[in-house]
Amino acid sequence: MNPVLSLARPELLTLKPYAHAEWSPSLTRLHANEAPWRPAGDTSAEGLNRYPEPQPAALIERLAALYEVPRNSLLATRGSDEAIDVLSRMYLRAGEDAILQCTPTFGMYQVAARIQGADVIEVPLRPENGWRLDAAQLLAAWRPHVKLIYLCSPNNPTANLLDAQAVESVCAALDGKAIVVVDEAYVEWSRSPGLISWLERHPTLAILRTLSKAYALAGARLGALIAHPELIEIAKRIIPPYCLAQPTIEAALRALDAAEVAAARQRIAGLLAEREYLRAGLEASGRVERVWPSDTNFLLIDCVDADEFTRASRSGGLIVRDLRSDPALRRSLRVTVGTRAQNDALLNSLESA
Ligand SMILES: *Cc1c(COP(=O)(O)O)cnc(C)c1O
Repeated sequence: MNPVLSLARPELLTLKPYAHAEWSPSLTRLHANEAPWRPAGDTSAEGLNRYPEPQPAALIERLAALYEVPRNSLLATRGSDEAIDVLSRMYLRAGEDAILQCTPTFGMYQVAARIQGADVIEVPLRPENGWRLDAAQLLAAWRPHVKLIYLCSPNNPTANLLDAQAVESVCAALDGKAIVVVDEAYVEWSRSPGLISWLERHPTLAILRTLSKAYALAGARLGALIAHPELIEIAKRIIPPYCLAQPTIEAALRALDAAEVAAARQRIAGLLAEREYLRAGLEASGRVERVWPSDTNFLLIDCVDADEFTRASRSGGLIVRDLRSDPALRRSLRVTVGTRAQNDALLNSLESA
């Protein structure tokens, strides 16, 4: 059996999925108990009174083209958050299984695992190593009950791309033994094309992508789980059939129009220049001991006095993310790169406070 199946909760392999209303757009819909009129203020193309198309063909086609994968390797999700939830429900048995993650990292992996009743094993990324992934240490921490290994690259909140060779050795050593989930939410801001092209070589690799960051659609909620078609097939049984709302589908189709994708790439390049402007300003502010290298649209900073920094930015009407509850980040804040006006407002608030 394909390990993407044998690693999964066995009861899911025989689960009969919910049979949603047939999708036959050429026929008049008297089969889904919908109201036949549109609600007030409905500007959607298809009508909010209608259930949306499950895994909409046009959207899957555009996402598959964007990420250069076959359509059956991709599941569209309500943001990567839902992809993480689906993977957790698919692979983690309560009281038996575990995930492995490299901390500090994105908080959702462990929340989703704990909701599922699974254990969380942590391998530290260390500031003295520039937050580098230590593959040997990760492999030493792996146990057979670890079903999901989360690698966030570029990592939130440390902002660094993980070393491809280290990720390769993790994949090679654990092929068939665990699902290696690489979260590439920020990869568009980095110099890396991402690891999607590795999927053929590593059948138990899964990649998370999202339109939330580089495509400016955080409010629409659209992500993609990209993995072996047999994993995607089971994931489709778990995800609710109507998970993507009609306005989300339409907004994503607009954003994935060729001209819009080209415009997004321009904006990304512009924001990277802005990131370096903000970095220089923060370094010159006297309030920051260190601005870490960034492959993302945010900066991890170690403050001289993080309370002072936070007070100053708040008095200028700006909010940054406090990371100090993490023992590895006792003086650290995370600052999203904004427009020139927003970045100047932050730098000015530091100066005037
Ligand atoms: C922002 C972010 C996401 C995106 O989550 P969505 O649910 O797609 O909005 C995923 N992973 C990481 C590490 C993030 O920081």
